Amino acid sequence: MSAVPSSLSFVDVAEAARQAALDRYAIVDTAPEQAFDDIVRLASMLCDVPAAAISFIDQDRLWFKARTGIDQPQLDRSQSLCGHAIDAPQETLVVDDLDLRPDYARRRRLHGLRPRFYAGVPLLSPEGQALGVLSVGDTTPRTITAQQLEGLQLLARQTEHLLELRRYLREQGRLLAQREAVARRAEDARNDLQRRHDDLQYAATHDALTGLLNRTGLDQLRESNEADARLSSGPYVLIVLDIDHFKRINDRHGHLFGDRALCAVADAISRSVRATDIAARFGGEEFLVVLPDTRLDGGAEIAERIRRQVEALALSAPITVSLGVADGAPGSDAPENVFERADQALYRAKKGGRNRVVADDTPR
Ligand code: GH3
Ligand code: MG
Ligand code: MG
Repeated sequence: MSAVPSSLSFVDVAEAARQAALDRYAIVDTAPEQAFDDIVRLASMLCDVPAAAISFIDQDRLWFKARTGIDQPQLDRSQSLCGHAIDAPQETLVVDDLDLRPDYARRRRLHGLRPRFYAGVPLLSPEGQALGVLSVGDTTPRTITAQQLEGLQLLARQTEHLLELRRYLREQGRLLAQREAVARRAEDARNDLQRRHDDLQYAATHDALTGLLNRTGLDQLRESNEADARLSSGPYVLIVLDIDHFKRINDRHGHLFGDRALCAVADAISRSVRATDIAARFGGEEFLVVLPDTRLDGGAEIAERIRRQVEALALSAPITVSLGVADGAPGSDAPENVFERADQALYRAKKGGRNRVVADDTPR
């Protein structure tokens, strides 16, 4: 109670509570709905009158949710009989002839006509707040039978049920939307996590400088079924590549040039192999290329293509590479042994003067 300013009267507080109850239905200024239209039509037929309406008392106005025989979409509350009908929420206001009731003289705007007969049943919330009125009217005086009155009250009760159902459905819709929003947020968070995991996984398995697989990536691939499948389908070739005199190049031209050269070599490798081949930077200036479904001579040709591409690079200082090539066959050679033979071939390429390809020729 202390929250209510002392300047507010009891009537003000009660009206504020009534308005708040109406607002919870969020019905004012909504589009016509068949169910409300049907009730109004039934009320007019039941009482055999030209005008009937379901109205809600919103602030200073009477707003019609459904109406028949009435022109205006809303009326001034102070001049409407419905505005008066809710003053006694438990009672049905029936006036047989308004001309005989001067106390209602100012409230004669019912239905835009000049009404003589009026009956209005207040529409209540479950807590007893008067939200609006189901009303009927006529331009000639008349009486309403007890049966018609009861029927009108039953229709008012149906209208109240309809209001509750409508509010319930709205609330369910709101809860559903809320649940969907939570589910969407959870899904977004999951996707975000997955993206970050993928990014981390990519960063952990790829060389940041050249974008090729790094040693970790190569190890993971080697342990995967995918690599098994690729290397067990037929003969394959490993190429081990090492940049010549790279230490000297770094010393002479700077580390930045060295990095550019590493990227250029990685590009030359990528350009020379198929999309299904695997290229990795597994050491400082050492690269490994895996060529599935390839024989030694074919692998040596690709190695030679890479060598020529590097030699032809338009860098500010020329660089060359040495390459060792060895082949393996599924079932007969462990990939580690094939790598060892390719590395031996590379050693011979270095010893033989660098900038060359040497294919493994050890007898097996
Ligand atoms: P060789 O022809 O016998 O291979 O001689 P090399 O000088 O290339 O061989 P070495 O192994 O002595 O030197 C490798 C050099 O590669 C040493 C290091 O400075 C350089 N290096 C390794 N990783 C990087 C890198 O990420 N960036 C740059 N700029 N240089 C690197
Ligand atoms: Mg090296
Ligand atoms: Mg080197």
